[in-house]
Amino acid sequence: MKSPAETRAIIKKLGKQHPNADTELHYSNAYELLVATILSAQCTDERVNQVTPALFKRYPDPRALANATTDELEPQIQSTGFFRMKSKALVGMANAVLERHKGEIPPRMDDLTELPGVGRKTANVVLGHALGVPGLPVDRHVLRVSNRIGIAESGDPKVVEQQLCSAIPAKQWTLTSDTLILHGRRICKPKPLCDQCAVRDDCDYYRSLLGVVARSRKAVGRSTSRVKPVARGLKPLKPLKPRRAR
Ligand code: SF4
Repeated sequence: MKSPAETRAIIKKLGKQHPNADTELHYSNAYELLVATILSAQCTDERVNQVTPALFKRYPDPRALANATTDELEPQIQSTGFFRMKSKALVGMANAVLERHKGEIPPRMDDLTELPGVGRKTANVVLGHALGVPGLPVDRHVLRVSNRIGIAESGDPKVVEQQLCSAIPAKQWTLTSDTLILHGRRICKPKPLCDQCAVRDDCDYYRSLLGVVARSRKAVGRSTSRVKPVARGLKPLKPLKPRRAR
């Protein structure tokens, strides 16, 4: 795994490539961001942003949302997917915020993750963006990108969060997550656009890919078996076809 200094340098380069990284969810306070983040599970931010303006108007605070029924909520959030589970989570969260925290979204990880429908990633999103508490949300993009580059080394989001947090100053945690998410959405997609990547020279995945290609070329004509990838998350390459003899 990269050293903390290397990690910071890589994040700096990615920051230059994505200078305006921020959450793409629309919100004006911690309550709205919490609702939007719960809705964003298995859904695009764009879709959530289409649904939330009417939702926030009808339920402007936890008290209003706590008074809603799941039957009433479901059709309003249906387009975000998993709407039964999400409506239950929203009503449960609003009730818990009212009962345990006097209607205020609590600024502590432990309190947030005890709310229905709120996991560590969601809590970190709200802490970092709306409550001014350093937080580094690890979603599937952060997980994929950080493992590929080699600035983290685990499939467990909590471990990756700890590894990144230990290398980066707390005040940059949230921006680091936003930057890695944007990089994962735009460049380091499941099928990565390495030729457009600012940290290609630093990336373990890219280096391994080059190594695999070189080895597979050497092996041409001797074996038709697949060349095993050496990088984490790297799909096996198809064997190169032997050139025809002239
Ligand atoms: S070089 Fe490729 S795999 Fe590595 S971070 Fe960039 S896009 Fe992702």
